[in-house]
Amino acid sequence: MPQEIVFIGIGSNVGDRQDFCDRAITLMNLLPLSQVTGVSSYYETEPVDPEGRQGENWFYNGVVRLETSLTPECLLEILQETERGLGRDDTHRSGPRPMDFDILLFGQHHIAQEGLTVPHPRLHLRRFVLEPLAELDPAYIHPTLHCSMNDLLEALDDTSCVTKLSFKPGSKYSPRPACSTPPSS
Ligand code: AMP
Repeated sequence: MPQEIVFIGIGSNVGDRQDFCDRAITLMNLLPLSQVTGVSSYYETEPVDPEGRQGENWFYNGVVRLETSLTPECLLEILQETERGLGRDDTHRSGPRPMDFDILLFGQHHIAQEGLTVPHPRLHLRRFVLEPLAELDPAYIHPTLHCSMNDLLEALDDTSCVTKLSFKPGSKYSPRPACSTPPSS
């Protein structure tokens, strides 16, 4: 599989949300055949469910840019395992979540298969996705809508509250080096 540029949405709305997001980015740095090549700011965002109803717990959201040779299916499987590792309750997936990953874009690929739709079908409708995406790569072209992230953001109807936070993401857990010196005996 050639290297592809992938954008992954991250979100947390329970516990220490900043810490969960930092951990998620650290774990993405450790994925096989992959490098994290960009991270947006974190944004505190109003919860809105797919039916437009307001939820209770506000989220921290961000977007990570990953260059990877993993297949989309393999990446999704690892991300779902990582969600579980960070404490996601699979039986109440719409409840409060320590970590939610969405594969937003996978290069210029269109994927429509059971359990995986890319580009993410609600990417262009959500302010909490488009604000960090446009911060990270404003000129990136959406593969099916054929316009840039900045254009999508400017055309957006979503008036939900999305506030950019001033502190830097991911600084607490930098990735370990691939090889460290063994302890001397
Ligand atoms: P959520 O509850 O928002 O984490 O949705 C997870 C479900 O959406 C899982 O069953 C995934 O298989 C499915 N899904 C479909 N497309 C995507 C995508 N692009 N990224 C992440 N999950 C997806």
